[in-house]
Amino acid sequence: MKTIRNVTFLFLAVVASATALLAKPIPGPKGGKIVTTEAPHVELFVAPDRTVVVSFYDHDLKLVAPAAQIVSAVAEAKGGKVNLTFAAKEGTLVSSSPLPEGDGYRVVLQVKDNAQARPKNYRIELHDEVCGECKRAEYACICDDAGGDKHDH
Ligand SMILES: [Zn+2]
Repeated sequence: MKTIRNVTFLFLAVVASATALLAKPIPGPKGGKIVTTEAPHVELFVAPDRTVVVSFYDHDLKLVAPAAQIVSAVAEAKGGKVNLTFAAKEGTLVSSSPLPEGDGYRVVLQVKDNAQARPKNYRIELHDEVCGECKRAEYACICDDAGGDKHDH
């Protein structure tokens, strides 16, 4: 019996540390959210005019101009879903229309490395308010959740 209990404990410890590793947020250089865990990185940034700016970065977070990538997004706003298309602009991809009014809704970002590639979907909970701790928009907050009681993600 004792052995079984120890094995269970070990398993839980491994799962916990793996989660902590994955959860470590990377600060987006433009102030947005890095949605990837490995390079090439993808950042979603909501500009002041509420257009969505998608940037690509290498391992050292150096901006890489988009090549064949195809990006689209769906804003699951309270008033209904809105599809966003993107066009290249100044080394990034910018949505051709702004996000719908309000916040507290989900944005699903779809990235294809090229026209033939399998799409990868990233879900971002959009929150406009600024985090008191890291001073970034809440959706792009980089505070370590282990820190405690600040906010619910
Ligand atoms: Zn924060």
